Amino acid sequence: MSDQYRFIDPRHAYPVISPPVQQQPEPGLQSQADPVPDLGEETYRGTGRLAGRKALITGGDSGIGGAVAIAYAREGADVVISYLREEQSDADHVLEHIRAAGRIGVGVPGDLSERGFPAELVARAVEELGGLDAVVNVAGRQLWVPDIADLSEEQFEATFRTNVFAAFAIVKAAVPHLAPGSTIINTASAEAYSPAPDRLDYAATKGAINNLSKGMAQQLIERGIRVNVVAPGPTWSVLQVTQGVDPESLPEFGSSEAPIGRAGQPAEIAPAYVYLASGESSFTVGATLSVNGGMITP
Ligand code: NAD
Ligand code: MG
Repeated sequence: MSDQYRFIDPRHAYPVISPPVQQQPEPGLQSQADPVPDLGEETYRGTGRLAGRKALITGGDSGIGGAVAIAYAREGADVVISYLREEQSDADHVLEHIRAAGRIGVGVPGDLSERGFPAELVARAVEELGGLDAVVNVAGRQLWVPDIADLSEEQFEATFRTNVFAAFAIVKAAVPHLAPGSTIINTASAEAYSPAPDRLDYAATKGAINNLSKGMAQQLIERGIRVNVVAPGPTWSVLQVTQGVDPESLPEFGSSEAPIGRAGQPAEIAPAYVYLASGESSFTVGATLSVNGGMITP
């Protein structure tokens, strides 16, 4: 069993996976992915670093967002997660773990690419949690299109709506509720620096998220709100099997891109989000924390 507290060679801290070729319609169910991504259900140990915090986590049903939600609850935070309606069963799995940690866990399904929903979601989170002090934008879509001739303007726009516009709208709606000390964390990617040729729209959104976050960080620190970014590298999640990457490449997923020689698991990304939400990162503002198994970034 992988465990973040055991002294171990990081190359072997989690399994070196070779996922079989598989495909699900977007957004996909993590419970049906082979192997099922590790959200740290069996391993994450909290130490009270987010005691009493009130967090909204988008994409909290699965993958990185799901791992963050479980970690935050075990660190003492109450949590609202957002996800798409089709993902209710994955959301229920994460909500069970939040509640098992003795915290409030509320799920709010809805499509973040629809104008107006991000603000509704923030209002629901404030209502359910009695306030808000941690906003974590993890939701994102990634669709593999190898030839620019096949990349439609509709897809280009939808990817930007989901990955960039929604994060902007959520932060805009949340700011009036955020007291000094609150934290905002957005999710970029190694793709922000090394765009894959077959994910032009996706990679561009990740560059935009980085830039937007650094601008917001400068503006919002004047209110005592810190904005930071996590930029994961290849991480095993259902995103990969919902046309996220070339299906034929799945057996090699992560093994050649990252010097560590394997894909990461969501459980290995979540601690970065804990750090950036907690007071331990009080002097970290406008930073991008890469968690990518050794890929070179600026
Ligand atoms: P995931 O599929 O488990 O999570 C993505 C979530 O985004 C979905 O669960 C879904 O709830 C949400 N989402 C997508 N479109 C939405 C919409 N229109 N409305 C509401 N919610 C929507 O995959 P993941 O890999 O854990 O992805 C989480 C984040 O991490 C994404 O932003 C992704 O770009 C980023 N990321 C992932 C990797 C990786 O290798 N897995 C690497 C770098 C960055
Ligand atoms: Mg999901």
